[in-house]
Amino acid sequence: MTLESTTVPSSPVVPVLRAAFDSGITCSLRWRTRQLEALKRMLVERSAEFEDALFADLGKNPAEAQLTEIGIVLAEIEHTLAHLRGWLRPRRVRVPLGLAPATASTMLEPLGVVLVIAPWNYPVQLLLAPVVGALAAGNAVLLKPSELAPATSALMAELVPQYLDNRAVTVVEGGVEITTELLAERFDHIFYTGNGAVGRIVMTAAAKHLTPVTLELGGKSPVYVDDTVDLAAAARRIAWGKFMNAGQTCVAPDYLLATRPVADALVPHLIDAIAELYDGDPRSSSSYGRIINDKQFTRLTGLLEGETVLTGGRSDERTRYLAPTVLGDVDRHAPVMQQEIFGPLLPIVTVTGLDDAIGFIRAGEKPLALYAFTNSKTAARRILTETSSGAVGFGAPVAHLGVAGLPFGGVGESGMGNYHGRRSIETFSHEKAVLTKRLVPDTLRLVYPPFTEKKDGFIRGLLRRLS
Ligand code: NAD
Repeated sequence: MTLESTTVPSSPVVPVLRAAFDSGITCSLRWRTRQLEALKRMLVERSAEFEDALFADLGKNPAEAQLTEIGIVLAEIEHTLAHLRGWLRPRRVRVPLGLAPATASTMLEPLGVVLVIAPWNYPVQLLLAPVVGALAAGNAVLLKPSELAPATSALMAELVPQYLDNRAVTVVEGGVEITTELLAERFDHIFYTGNGAVGRIVMTAAAKHLTPVTLELGGKSPVYVDDTVDLAAAARRIAWGKFMNAGQTCVAPDYLLATRPVADALVPHLIDAIAELYDGDPRSSSSYGRIINDKQFTRLTGLLEGETVLTGGRSDERTRYLAPTVLGDVDRHAPVMQQEIFGPLLPIVTVTGLDDAIGFIRAGEKPLALYAFTNSKTAARRILTETSSGAVGFGAPVAHLGVAGLPFGGVGESGMGNYHGRRSIETFSHEKAVLTKRLVPDTLRLVYPPFTEKKDGFIRGLLRRLS
């Protein structure tokens, strides 16, 4: 049985994937590595088509497409191919004396049929990176690209069936209606990347079938800067992380916290950095992206109302251009501080010092990432131990995503569960506990009833020795 990618209601899709999984074809290491190699071939051979689709959807520069989308997935594939055999090896576990002689181990088994729902902002990376893990763990996979990045979605629907095993991997395109239908089906894991409101819908639907979920959500990721660092270098890093993909990055610095003197000294460097990154004019620079759609454009320009624009602020509705913008002296209760910005606006909130910055971060929801530019060991330690976030980046925003050995995921409102590298295999597997105990000698007889006085003494003695 094979499946073409489809936009029709999904009901036949899941049973076909389940039949493929139940047939056992996805389990062998050979099948898994072949799928990963095929995915790699697809990205390499059809690279130009992916670059074009990303340009059509987001005005993404081809170099940025390679760096932040295609390259990240290729690196994830390479890392997984290099380690998969080792990751899948059963792990021995020590057996307590009271159960000896016996052996214990854990083994990873595939879950079954996995649904991956992706957002529009990194429509290649955020669809395929989880798929790498799901396939490597031996699952059948249904891919649901975002309808809001239509060129990439259509390309996925065209290419995935040409490269991957159609019996066990399929793409379903569509919007809310189709996703709602899919979510009514029973999956063995749902991996969702997107906003928290839909995250709640996904989790509610999953609860009906007791399906485990990974929710990769967003939030307001702060960046704290103090006076112990080279502000010009910090400004370049912050501008790079913030304005990449026109600010539409889940781990972009959302807002900046600094004392007034630091903020005043930093702003000219931010202005210089923006000019440097975008050839002096972001509007005509091919390195600067565009806002995904009119709805987001209107929301973002609305956030500018009443704010003090230190640089940027210009926009063009027709091309959905919104300049890299820095906002000064932003009120902590301003609309731009009440929601994830997810666009090229960087509000600066002035704080009285580290205590105030930590207090402000702690008063909000737990962010997906927290960045700090400081050379103070005390400040770094306090940030690490007194705040909670999906990740912390000292000296570089966004870059932690490029470390395959680090888990990627949020905490609290920014998500649950994580992936990348080995964590992906664990996310998409069940870790099964295995105990093997020979029948002879039957040492368990010592604890079988009836519980005579002698046995009672033996059991208490044993437990004392073990405690
Ligand atoms: P989106 O609108 O593309 O939605 C994501 C997916 O959810 C899509 O596939 C869409 O079809 C589906 N969807 C939308 N509405 C639905 C509904 N009512 N029922 C069922 N499915 C529905 O993307 P988005 O949510 O606008 O993405 C932006 C958000 O995602 C931001 O909050 C951002 O921080 C977050 N994000 C998180 C990560 C991460 O890795 N943690 C990465 C990227 C984006």
